[in-house]
Amino acid sequence: MGRNDSRWGAPLNQALMGELAKANRLALNLFIQYQVVERTPRFFANITRKMRNQGMAPAAEALQKEFGDRVGPLPAGGPPARQPQRGHLPPACPQCGAPLRSDEVEWIDARSVECVYCGSVVRTEA
Ligand SMILES: [Zn+2]
Repeated sequence: MGRNDSRWGAPLNQALMGELAKANRLALNLFIQYQVVERTPRFFANITRKMRNQGMAPAAEALQKEFGDRVGPLPAGGPPARQPQRGHLPPACPQCGAPLRSDEVEWIDARSVECVYCGSVVRTEA
């Protein structure tokens, strides 16, 4: 007794989602604080999309409300759908086997992406 057990009262999924939302919020604050101007909008778009995909639409909306006007628009007026000099993505993450889609992964640079599922850096094929 005496310990704060409330966080364990929620279903595990909910607790995990809460942690994820918290982590995303922290990361966003860091991005904004250090003025990673170019990557912040992309990161923001990625995490809110990820959260929506995972049934966390309300949390995504909350982030949108909280950060929407502090995060600039995506460069070139849209999601980074096509950039000419990118390498070719392998079909699946070599670490966790998740499918890699160029519009879903986080591009670190033209030759490396971050797997949205396990976070490992995947090099593109030449
Ligand atoms: Zn992976």
